[in-house]
Amino acid sequence: MWFLAILCVSSLLMGTQAQSSASFHRGNDRSGRCQYSFTVDSPSEASCPSMGSSPEMESLKSRMGILEALVNRLAGGEAVPDFSERSGLQDAYNQAMQENALLKRDKQRLDTQVQDLQKQVEELRNKPCTPPPRVPVNNNMRRLGPGPSPLASRPGNTQGDTVSLPDPGWRPRYQELTAVVTEVSAPNLEGPADIKGCGDLVWVSEPETHRKADTIAGKYGVWMQDPAAKEPYDSEMVWRIDAVGSEVRQLFGYENMDQLARGFPTKVLLLPEAVESTGATMYEGSLYYQRRLSRTLLRYDLHSESIAARRDLPHAGFHGQFPYSWGGYTDIDLAVDENGLWAIYSTSKAKGAIVISQLDPHTLEVKGTWETKIRKSTVANAFMICGKLYTIASYTTPNTTINYMYDTATSEGKAISVPFKNRYRYNSMVDYNRVHRKLYAWDNYYIVSYNVRLGKQE
Ligand code: CA
Repeated sequence: MWFLAILCVSSLLMGTQAQSSASFHRGNDRSGRCQYSFTVDSPSEASCPSMGSSPEMESLKSRMGILEALVNRLAGGEAVPDFSERSGLQDAYNQAMQENALLKRDKQRLDTQVQDLQKQVEELRNKPCTPPPRVPVNNNMRRLGPGPSPLASRPGNTQGDTVSLPDPGWRPRYQELTAVVTEVSAPNLEGPADIKGCGDLVWVSEPETHRKADTIAGKYGVWMQDPAAKEPYDSEMVWRIDAVGSEVRQLFGYENMDQLARGFPTKVLLLPEAVESTGATMYEGSLYYQRRLSRTLLRYDLHSESIAARRDLPHAGFHGQFPYSWGGYTDIDLAVDENGLWAIYSTSKAKGAIVISQLDPHTLEVKGTWETKIRKSTVANAFMICGKLYTIASYTTPNTTINYMYDTATSEGKAISVPFKNRYRYNSMVDYNRVHRKLYAWDNYYIVSYNVRLGKQE
């Protein structure tokens, strides 16, 4: 089309002799190449005006310039956005708009929290100070002796029930009180001790950064190590999916954490069906993931490199129906702990509350289901440890908390507060690895991990 248009305009510019009517001619030129000519009369002029600068000529020249520029761009190999790129740009735009809406919602929530806190501060300011409780004074308070500490006396026993023994060294009582207060109020920077085996999550370390993603495709994603790996891979093998894009199908494998840090995958697999979001997990030699735009769960066998099982997760919301607070189509989150494979999601019947189902890892059948009382949209992410669900309050706040625990053994949930840090302020995935006893997370391009300690929740 451009070729014909250029020829047409060229013939006008070159002052081709007017013909009595429009004609089209094809013939070889002097060099023997096929040449097309198209000629047409001027509607009003018997002969061509001078080649000066009539407005019509100027217009033609400028249009010619535009056409030449376009031809040069095409001939020079400069890419003109095709449909798929425009579609990609549209996806990116939609994603940005979605994130913008989420940020606005976060801002509103934070504004409300700030107002509440200001109100509380005002109330505290106006509250009259209460005098400190009076400490009863008795004979035992005047001296410090061996035997049971006077602090162990029963409340209200003003006489004290400890026996005063001969005391070789008198010391004022306040020294002991000071020592006790210091011991209680000193922050425990190392956190509580870890127990062996199962327990409640009581402490999470600072995040350790392992790698930053190279492209926009890695702004969010999922990374995993199989806690029950099978041949030909072991539990040191690291797997990674960059989750930005509408057709996410690449699964990268690294021999170990060092290889991941260096950035060169030793294995790249192309999944037969696209992945939805960041809820995938790795278990017993298979990648488990949600198929894009569906509630279908897939088991991709790493040995045969093919889909080994597929099953719909009954009634599960998908593609933005019940995501975590950051959105990103995080409707179905798969997790592995000491008790096996789990799905964390919600249903219309549960009205957006988190539902947990334990799955058969071979067939993906649901073995048991629990309905919690915490709304999925109010939390940033969730994971399972020892049959207990834990949720994270915020994906952006640098110092947030793990704020809720639900025990599938007792079917009871409760609010908790274990400090958790979002160092890069956009945490899109958090999962537990039982072998390495760590939380794995993907925070704003960064692949990070946290040590955890288990014990007994107060
Ligand atoms: Ca998770």
